Amino acid sequence: MSKRDYYEVLGVSKGASKDEIKKAYRKQALKYHPDKNPGSKEAEENFKEAAEAYEVLSNDEKRARYDKYGHAGMGNNMGGGFGGGMTMEDIFSSFGDIFGDAFGGAFGSRRSGRSRSVNKGTNLRLKVKLTLEEFAHGAEKRVKVNKYVSCNTCHGTGAASESDVTTCSACKGTGHTTRVMNTILGQMQTSAPCNVCGGEGKVITKKCPKCYGEGIVQAEEVIPLSIPAGLSPGMQLSVSSKGNAARRGGINGDLIVVIEEEPHPELIREGNDIIYNLFISIPDAILGANAEVPTIEGKVRIKIDPGTQGGKILRLRGKGLPDVNGYGKGDLLVNVNVWIPKTLTKEEQKIMEEYRSSSTFTPRPDADDKGFFDRVKNYFS
Ligand SMILES: [Zn+2]
Ligand SMILES: [Zn+2]
Repeated sequence: MSKRDYYEVLGVSKGASKDEIKKAYRKQALKYHPDKNPGSKEAEENFKEAAEAYEVLSNDEKRARYDKYGHAGMGNNMGGGFGGGMTMEDIFSSFGDIFGDAFGGAFGSRRSGRSRSVNKGTNLRLKVKLTLEEFAHGAEKRVKVNKYVSCNTCHGTGAASESDVTTCSACKGTGHTTRVMNTILGQMQTSAPCNVCGGEGKVITKKCPKCYGEGIVQAEEVIPLSIPAGLSPGMQLSVSSKGNAARRGGINGDLIVVIEEEPHPELIREGNDIIYNLFISIPDAILGANAEVPTIEGKVRIKIDPGTQGGKILRLRGKGLPDVNGYGKGDLLVNVNVWIPKTLTKEEQKIMEEYRSSSTFTPRPDADDKGFFDRVKNYFS
């Protein structure tokens, strides 16, 4: 496979200034950053390709050689890292500093010189139960979480005082050590995280007494949550950087909120629709009546037609839950049940005996009644 031209990779002209090249690389690197494209092999390849192009074009000597001889001119002088497969680790340790502004203070604080490995706090997971009303309207909530926060005695550095942090002498603050090896392909340069400072580039000579040098302590924090309308149970909200703080001034993890449902005493959720089981008396079913039905917006009155069969479903359009994508609302389905008394007075029993022999009470379901049955079957199957 032929290699793409480095200028083309970064999308700049041959005469691009150093600044233009840096900007172009930043754009590419952010676009294909592994944090933004988890698991994407393609993004990773693009990310590496951009890093390689930047490595050459940002260096006057290498760029001049590339301009003159193209890819052929790069040969073994790349230090073996490129071409032979640059790892993501190499890229971050080489020019992680370019991410400075985009990732805010997290990288920014480490921007001096070449970047060192950055600690990342873990994500926090939390379950939040919502009522049907909250699913419908959204909610502003405040949740209390027990988590790691930056130590305020040492401001997250882990050191007893500012003068107790020194640049690691083993790696001279770069966070990694390089080794040059002679191989049949020429000199190869390999890089590994510094094992004296653990890749941080700094060594703490006297630890902060409160956090014992970790830079983080456990604390309770109240986090406001803005929950949009139309969520469903099982959905997750991610609140950026509200997870655990990282050791010694790294990047915070995220807070992942898992949405659960608080069961409603009367209403049953079914997707965006809501089901209500209404019980009416035999006389109401026969003679017709008004009935009260609870909805998430309060009670509404509905009309029961004379001769209503048990099992009939009345659909109240738009009285369900909103769709999370804003595609309208579900319905409230009133499932009509006819209440059959379990005990009767002597007198009622006599009346029922009379009705038993009346041809009016002999079941003669018509097409419409059978239709109800099919609808129920379809809905609940
Ligand atoms: Zn501390
Ligand atoms: Zn070191």
